[in-house]
Amino acid sequence: MNRRLLKIRKQLAKPAFLKISDEDFLKRIEKADEILNSCSLCPRKCGVNRNEGQIGFCRQGRNTSVSYYSVHKGEEPVICGGNGAGAVFFVGCTLSCVFCQNYQISQQSKKGDFKILTDTELADIFLNLQKMGACNIDLVSPVPHIPAILRGLFEARKLGLNIPIVFNTNSYISETALDLISDIVDIYLLDMKYFSEENSLKYSKVKSYPETVQNAVKSMFKSRGDLIYKDDLLAKGCIARILLLPNKAEEAEKTLSFLAENEIFIPISIMGQYNPVFNASKYPEICDFISQDRIESVVKFAEKLGFLDIWYQNVEANKIYLPDFTKANPFENV
Ligand code: SF4
Repeated sequence: MNRRLLKIRKQLAKPAFLKISDEDFLKRIEKADEILNSCSLCPRKCGVNRNEGQIGFCRQGRNTSVSYYSVHKGEEPVICGGNGAGAVFFVGCTLSCVFCQNYQISQQSKKGDFKILTDTELADIFLNLQKMGACNIDLVSPVPHIPAILRGLFEARKLGLNIPIVFNTNSYISETALDLISDIVDIYLLDMKYFSEENSLKYSKVKSYPETVQNAVKSMFKSRGDLIYKDDLLAKGCIARILLLPNKAEEAEKTLSFLAENEIFIPISIMGQYNPVFNASKYPEICDFISQDRIESVVKFAEKLGFLDIWYQNVEANKIYLPDFTKANPFENV
């Protein structure tokens, strides 16, 4: 192999956050910290000063809190690989889903339940996961934590962190926040829950969800649409996770049609693991499980639209992937 090709190959093999200069990284950190003066990291645009202790909808301050981290085999096979993803479960959320499986940490946690971490402590978590053999750093519900994540990654890369970064997101993120993480994140593991505003408002207390999420997905695809694999693991790209809600699976089909119409032919993960936990019992129409037949009919629908890479969970997944964050290992069954 000639020197130029070797250089290109090495560049491709490097995670994105190792390719940007210190100067660029520090500018992003500065900008992210400034945004916290009047927070607009997600489209709620609460405008609170998180640097001075004010809190918005997500209830997060300047620094971050992590409820649990470990190598984790509950993600898609190209994310987990043999050893597992290095999952970091952040506290809080920008949505308020009545059926949230992580409700103990996303909505129920109170001030003081989890330690507020310094940048160095967050960097240590990333480095520990690498030492544990994780094939990437899988940031779960990261949007309110972007400033702290940037600071932690900057410290961790100085100390040898060199695995890809997965942004495992509900996709409810502002363009400003997406700009901060472009060229930092390697893989977007992006959720699409609803196609209609009526449902997003009713079940997640969020207005204009379909439009903002669809725009964010277009941006994520533009930034990381081309898939690069290293061995059997995804090193760069996007995966769309499409939630199937009971009696509302047609929402998922409309979302798939939106992706196809916009030629966003990324790998698709059909989520059949819905379990009517938390406040779902207050909504009889979604207080149910998804049937295996309905899961398979959505998979066929996706195939007909032209999607080639499709994962789907069988109906038993609703028991396996239900975490309990009061336990030392919330994912005992995975
Ligand atoms: S990240 Fe949190 S504080 Fe900032 S706009 Fe979103 S919900 Fe509000």
